Amino acid sequence: MLDISAKTLLSKQKIEECLAFAGEQHQALLNLAYRTKLETIGNTVYFRGLIEFSNICSKNCYYCGIRSGNTFVKRYELSEHEILQVAHFAYKHQYGSVVLQGGERTGEKYTEQINNLIRKIKQLSNNELGITLSLGEQTPEVYRRWFDSGAHRYLLRIETSNPELYSKIHPKNKQHSFDKRIKCLHSLKTIGYQTGTGIMAGLPYQTISDLADDIQFMTQFNVDMVGMGPFIEHAKTPFYKTSTPMLSLQERFNLTLKMLAIIRIMVPDINMVASTAMQAIDPMGREKALLAGANIIMPNTTPNTYRENYKLYENKPGATQNADDTLDILTQQIETINHQVGWNLWGDSEHYKNRLK
Ligand code: SAH
Ligand code: SF4
Repeated sequence: MLDISAKTLLSKQKIEECLAFAGEQHQALLNLAYRTKLETIGNTVYFRGLIEFSNICSKNCYYCGIRSGNTFVKRYELSEHEILQVAHFAYKHQYGSVVLQGGERTGEKYTEQINNLIRKIKQLSNNELGITLSLGEQTPEVYRRWFDSGAHRYLLRIETSNPELYSKIHPKNKQHSFDKRIKCLHSLKTIGYQTGTGIMAGLPYQTISDLADDIQFMTQFNVDMVGMGPFIEHAKTPFYKTSTPMLSLQERFNLTLKMLAIIRIMVPDINMVASTAMQAIDPMGREKALLAGANIIMPNTTPNTYRENYKLYENKPGATQNADDTLDILTQQIETINHQVGWNLWGDSEHYKNRLK
């Protein structure tokens, strides 16, 4: 019998114990999370059509394939017309929401460009498409402008809640500051966004104690959404080969499943992404994440010609599939594991709604 509940998981020691589970105990943990999900938010999976609209980035995170220091990547930016076409595709196919994601950029011209896109996506969908942003660190004023224009969710991963580890996986300069990241998360929440954060599991130098702290950070920060995935090396980054021992990809995958499960048990009404990085390790990775407590999928709707250049990590799936094919296969796979797609629905975080009550 597993003595695991939202209450027992308040202890860090218990979280660490669960993160070490293997075999039957591992499966029992995932099963408990799955049951918790079914009993609280049910078996509906919400789609967010992912638009990776530009790989131009001013930052140089050591783990990421599109970091500014990678001169091998061809930089691109979708035109407004292309972005709106993709948003229209998502609308027509009843996705319910889109995510605008890109490298981090700032400045008035950029801010207004995004503002304009948000408004136009709202217009073309009769105000029906929900909009999530994943555009990195910005000033509170910029976050506010985008919120006022109609974006209502924001994903900004903390990457790790350990400031020391944060400084090992980023260049040591003002542009890559742990404190600023925290401030940004606070301002997103204050402005009224459904706020999402997350981490990568299996980073170099990361320990089980770090991951347990990450879980406590996310639950104590009271986030509405969680987006986590395994770290996967990219050849053109400093982390391709490190001198520290690394977990295997399968171990990182399993760790992520356990992280998802523990959070679902602790905060049953949260939205959690079954990330593409899970699918990069295991073709059924996202479905396995759904069975461990995740409830959101972000199908890639970026036009094919650009996908090759938005590789945050190696083996990123879907580079040759078009969005139509992906959708049919994905829907079938979701139904095979007894889930249903919440077509045309925003699928807002129940946790957000409950938090505001
Ligand atoms: N520039 C924005 C959004 C794009 S990056 C930002 O950084 O917030 C989105 C996420 O991709 C990052 O938060 C990071 O967690 C993840 N990512 C980057 N490189 C990765 C890698 N090598 N393996 C797995 N995930 C990675
Ligand atoms: Fe840029 Fe985001 Fe990659 Fe960092 S993780 S280099 S901010 S795209």
